[in-house]
This record gives sequence, structure tokens and C-alpha cells, in this order.
Amino acid sequence: MSARILDGAGTARGIREELRAEVARLAGRGHRPGLGVVLVGDDPASAVYVASKTRAGEELGMLGETRRLPATSTTAEVEAAVEEYNLRPDIHGVLVQLPLPPQVDAARVLDLVDPAKDVDGFHPENVGRLVQKRPRFVPCTPAGIMELLARSGIGVAGRRAVVVGRSDIVGKPMALLLLHANATVTVCHSRTRDLAAVTREADVLVAALGQPGFVRAEHVSPGAVVVDVGIHRIEDPALARELLSPARLAAFEKRGHALVGDVHAPSVAEVASALTPVPGGVGPLTIAFLLRSTVRAAAAREGRAADR
Ligand code: NAP
Repeated sequence: MSARILDGAGTARGIREELRAEVARLAGRGHRPGLGVVLVGDDPASAVYVASKTRAGEELGMLGETRRLPATSTTAEVEAAVEEYNLRPDIHGVLVQLPLPPQVDAARVLDLVDPAKDVDGFHPENVGRLVQKRPRFVPCTPAGIMELLARSGIGVAGRRAVVVGRSDIVGKPMALLLLHANATVTVCHSRTRDLAAVTREADVLVAALGQPGFVRAEHVSPGAVVVDVGIHRIEDPALARELLSPARLAAFEKRGHALVGDVHAPSVAEVASALTPVPGGVGPLTIAFLLRSTVRAAAAREGRAADR
């Protein structure tokens, strides 16, 4: 079997195009959706993520602003930047790019984001609403995955779903969304015994464990749908030979680097019925959902219900 590749990039493009008219409508009424990002330190990957988020928003006619703070910033300094965005009427979505430097109390900073502007869905109020199945803002990566599955005609109701990873950003909200969509959900983590035996029970397997190429054919039941959340830039030729298909390896040899996920795509593609690629799978959906949440926050501010 060779898995169907689920086109996250194309789906994300479609979602962004759907937002374009709403952005124009809101802008025409003086509520141009605005995203305010707080970026602390000089982590190059974070800088790339932030630039792609704000650029994607600007391409739709949104306002995208980034407040850069030095790596030496204190919790109080980061809090002050969040407070400023909380108070600004032209900023509808506030995003604190993670990770924050170790001296900054990340929980305190995230708790300070106005829940009505918390487009990442990390504030305890929004987490609680998600748990109670009355969501306002839902973390963008799992929300994007659910939309990709739905738009790809993959139903989860009544099926076994296994999520590998229990982070607040991906694993836990992913498990809740699958549960709310009537899947039977198991969550695995670093202390799970005989992981492969558990993951082989999955009809839908979500890999969000942050280990390049970890999930292999032996973890996947024939015909399962596999969602690869991981993103890793690899530069080591030996690792590239292990993780990349011959076609991608040829590109790696020219460029010297490649992006891979948590799934060993060449072997899993032989077993799974469908697989999200890296790049071009979950990543673009995360950005599209961030923009969608920001547009909804602006619509809510305009007095229209953003809850759905
Ligand atoms: P994280 O906070 O590091 O969490 C990783 C989770 O995986 C933890 O719950 C950990 O278990 C579990 N885990 C680690 N090694 C394991 C193993 N060998 N077996 C079973 N479970 C294991 O990571 P995250 O923020 O959720 O991100 C996960 C991956 O997704 C990363 O590669 C990240 O770059 C990527 N990501 C991508 C997007 C996107 O837009 N595509 C967005 C966010 C994250 P414990 O809890 O026991 O430690």
C-alpha cells in the first residue's frame, strides 16, 4: 500500500482564501483584524515562525505586528508587552511565541493574555471552555488537524484514535477534540509501556512527540490514518539517509538540510492509508487557524458572535 498524502498546504490555502472576504468586510467597518506577536530572544526558528504568521496575515489584508524583546527580558517586561496589546483596540489577537527564555515565567505571561484575544487558546479560561465542549479559541495545531481530517473525508466518530504526546499545545487539546468528535481516544507519553502495541490499535494515529522519524511501520496498523505533527530541521547526512525517501535525499544533498516530522515517512507510507507530509502537512494549517481565530476575535469585537 502507498498512503494517500493529505494536502495540508492546499487545505490551508483554501482556508486563508475563505478568510479574505471577511477580512475585507471587517476592515471596511473599521475593524481590520490585527495580530500582535511578542517575540522574546533570538531563537532563529521562532523568528521564522513569527515572520510566516504575520506575513500570512498581511497577505490577507490583516495587521501583523511583532514586538521584539531581548533574550535577557524579565517576566515583568514581557508582561508589559502583553498588557500593551491587551489594551490596544486595533489588536484582536495576542500571541506570545514559545519557548520563552528560562528566566521568564511562561505561565504568568500566558495567563495575562486577555482571554478574548487569546488566539492560541492557551489561557486557562479557554482551556476550560474547550474541556467543557464550548470552545472559544482552540489551540491552532489540533484545530487545523481536525479540519484537515474533515476536509479530506476522514471521519473519526466511533474510531480508535491514539495521540502520542500530552503537551498543552498539541497532545491534550488534540485528544479533547478527537473525543468531542466521538473518537475513542488514548493518549500516550514517555512513560507509556509498549508504545507500539498501543499505537497499533489506532485507526487514527497522531504523532506529536518531538522525536524525528520516531514512529515507524511497526507502530502503525495497516490502513491507519497517520498525522505527523513533528517539525525538525535536519542537517546530519547520516540522519537524512535514515529518514528521507530517495527523492528527498537527492534534494537534501543539494541543499544541506531538510524538514522531517515525528514519523518515518518512507516506511509508514507503505502501511498507512493516509499520511500528512512534512513539510506541507500540519504546519501550514496551524498558521491558517491562527489567522482564522484572529479574524473571529475581530468579528466578536465588532459585536458578532465568534463562538461556533
Ligand atoms: P513537547 O511539549 O516536547 O511534548 C512532547 C510529548 O511527547 C510529551 O508529552 C512527551 O511525554 C511525549 N514523548 C516524548 N518522547 C516520547 C516517546 N519516546 N514516546 C512516547 N511519548 C513521548 O512537544 P510539543 O510542543 O507537543 O510538540 C511536539 C512536536 O510537534 C514537536 O516536534 C514540535 O516541533 C511539533 N509542533 C509542530 C507544530 C506545527 O505547527 N506543525 C506545532 C506545535 C508543535 P512526557 O509528557 O512524558 O514528557
